[in-house]
Amino acid sequence: MPGTNLTRDEAATRASLLDVTSYSIDLDLTTAPDRTTDTFGSTTSIAFTCREPGASTFADLVGATVHELTLNGVALDPATYVDSRIPLPDLQADNLLVVRADCTYSTSGEGLHRFVDPVDDRVYLYSQFEVPDARRVFTTFEQPDLKSVFTFRVTAPDHWKVVSNAPTPEPEPVGAGAAVWAFPPTKRMSTYITAVVAGEYHAVFDTYEGQFGEIPLGHYCRQSLVDHLDRDELVKITKQSFEFFEREFGYPYPFEKYDQLYVPEYNMGAMENAGCVTLRDEYLPRSRQPRSFYEFRCSVITHEMAHMWFGDLVTMKWWDDLWLNESFAEWACYWCEAEATEFTDAWTGFANARKQTGYRADQLPSTHPIAADNHDLEAVEVNFDMITYAKGASVLKQLVAWVGLEPFIAGLRQYFQDHAFGNTEFGDLLVALERSSGRELGSWAEEWLQTAGVNTLTPDFELDADGAYTRLAVRQTASADQPTLRRHRLGIGLYDEVANERGELRLVRRDYIEVDVEGESTDIKEAVGQKQPALLLLNDGDLAYAKIRLDERSLATVVGGLSRLDDSLARALVWGATWDMTRDAELSATDFVTLVLGNIGSETDAWGVTRIPAYAALAVNSYSAPAHRADLRLQWERGLRGLLDAAEPGSDSQLTFARSYAGAAHTDEALDALEALLDGSLVVEGLAVDDDLRWSLITALAARGRADDARVDEALAADNTISGQEHAAAARAAMPTAEAKETAWRLGMLEAGTPNETARSIVLSFMRSGQEEVLAPYVEKYLDLVDSTWERIGAHRGSVALEHFFPKPLASAELLEKVDAYLATSTANPGAVRYVREGRAEVARALAAQAKDAG
Ligand SMILES: [Zn+2]
Repeated sequence: MPGTNLTRDEAATRASLLDVTSYSIDLDLTTAPDRTTDTFGSTTSIAFTCREPGASTFADLVGATVHELTLNGVALDPATYVDSRIPLPDLQADNLLVVRADCTYSTSGEGLHRFVDPVDDRVYLYSQFEVPDARRVFTTFEQPDLKSVFTFRVTAPDHWKVVSNAPTPEPEPVGAGAAVWAFPPTKRMSTYITAVVAGEYHAVFDTYEGQFGEIPLGHYCRQSLVDHLDRDELVKITKQSFEFFEREFGYPYPFEKYDQLYVPEYNMGAMENAGCVTLRDEYLPRSRQPRSFYEFRCSVITHEMAHMWFGDLVTMKWWDDLWLNESFAEWACYWCEAEATEFTDAWTGFANARKQTGYRADQLPSTHPIAADNHDLEAVEVNFDMITYAKGASVLKQLVAWVGLEPFIAGLRQYFQDHAFGNTEFGDLLVALERSSGRELGSWAEEWLQTAGVNTLTPDFELDADGAYTRLAVRQTASADQPTLRRHRLGIGLYDEVANERGELRLVRRDYIEVDVEGESTDIKEAVGQKQPALLLLNDGDLAYAKIRLDERSLATVVGGLSRLDDSLARALVWGATWDMTRDAELSATDFVTLVLGNIGSETDAWGVTRIPAYAALAVNSYSAPAHRADLRLQWERGLRGLLDAAEPGSDSQLTFARSYAGAAHTDEALDALEALLDGSLVVEGLAVDDDLRWSLITALAARGRADDARVDEALAADNTISGQEHAAAARAAMPTAEAKETAWRLGMLEAGTPNETARSIVLSFMRSGQEEVLAPYVEKYLDLVDSTWERIGAHRGSVALEHFFPKPLASAELLEKVDAYLATSTANPGAVRYVREGRAEVARALAAQAKDAG
């Protein structure tokens, strides 16, 4: 029984049989204007050829009611549509399949999502098809290598906007308040990057005039977000990115126009639908956000644009190369951001934030080679994670260092020329890069892409009587589970403490050595005879993907004054190394928190400012020894208050410290201060208590039992937006009462009807340290429900729920035993069980770190 699965072999067989000449898709979106039905009309005609007349195959369609099925003019029995497939027997050389069906709107963000804005009751729809969900909206051959041209014809209320991949036509009225949008055929593309977005969207237009001609630009959002659409900024980034990519790729933007649509209740950051990019509309913030937010948004915009060439113009043959699709867009987005936009420190932000998620994922039991073996769609689900994005981008960054940027770009240009509008495998890119760089890359690809795990690089040295190196080596280790040692292009920085003209001590780089590291130990001959520096920084420049260790002297130097290091990227490497040492129980949580409190006040990198306090909060709540956790919590809370009071008015640091302080507040004194910020009796100069900060404060109070349902109702009455509703749901889920947890559990874990983003808000707010008693029953409840989660609430919501409902605050040996007993007998699908294994690994890590912190 295939269910909704599809294997690589089935897809290969179908691709060897068929060429898809064209799709005509007729969608009727007028069927549910009054919300009496949750379906829409979907009629698909597919013209395709078959290389072996007489053969049979199948088309894909999910969750539909099929009314009429015709193949080559012969009516087939609609009852043959079972298990998400339409059997197509006895094919001719030229075929025409017509399927008239009703499909179902979703509230899960998959397929065609339907949203009604609570502010004004306006309706918004958007499609989300990756990986295999176009078949939830029309009949498809759902695999990336059966590219075709798509002609959409959409009937919708005449006051709507309707947007798709091809340029938007003038709607033609058809009476009764409806109109038809007859789109021209698209360029040749895969089903998963087709799109339809429709509803009462607000639209603004602009034009990019570039080296290859004009590109019409559109920006869309909900009516209730019009005030937050910072159009000039978005247009600026879009134009900067087009200029950069068209120049660097040496290939014109391949589609006719470029619309970016900010849509509600979106599961991911964005999606690279050809010429019709959808993005989560939280990126149009209504409250003040720190610079890291805008830096991230910029990287999302550039990421999706990079896909227009890498992914949309040239597309993977099968999902085996999904990693390459995402890794490339991820690497390219930071490259573009750093070179072409105002976010010139983008690579520092990458090191402080995104790359850390790759290191984390690579040390979980669910890690896998970057190039995963995606033998079917279920495997894709399991392997689509931060290995795909963050590790993949890090490793591509290392590849660029390995072959050189110029040869890398030359290889890319050739690749786009050779494979435009076609499909490829990783080997095709490798061939292009080998030709342009002259380096053999097969063995490099093997050790980096086909094995899992991260190496640790540690300095290993001896000094003479004067304190100079007689030997410096880089020692490489691997975990027992993932024993591969790899070749690394590695920078090494030697930093001394030097007084500047004002007499302040700074950490100044005396020397930078770049070497190839290989095997268990690599001698760094260039360092012999050099005086031991105050800070020896492995991976200076962040070329490598590896965990790094600081020697004792270097560690003392940074604890004493990391802020003396002027280079933000070097600081990011030190933050990363010390955080990693904390996670590995080599540095105590207490020492890490001391390092953060002592140095975060002068951190300037946008991502450093926002992300490092989050790491410290995790150290306080999860990695500290229970015996002195209360002391460390107090130190953290008071330290943050000190940082908040000292922060420059209106600065990012001030906003981050305020949010962190709200999260850390647990004494009466601190909770009173939050109340005072809310009622205005405490005013911090430069800090506006706007919608988002107000909700942070209310949620923090709710979590400590100082804000009840009535208080949340009152806040919601003042902010009855979808964002307000999501915040209110999170505030209620945070409350330390059995009733609140029960309701949150029901909405987040049991009920399929809870909208995806509301469910996510609840799930993320539920498990809180300091609430161990009220959370205790949720160990059994969680383990009882894992196996049925996918069927109950679907793969996407299920993933979020199983990850964040895992009872990490209850970390103990007893919890590990219960989880092990569950794992020994579990029958859940691998996609669900991975979260249990991951949660278990994180708890084991926390227990080890607690032991280190206990001293
Ligand atoms: Zn992507």
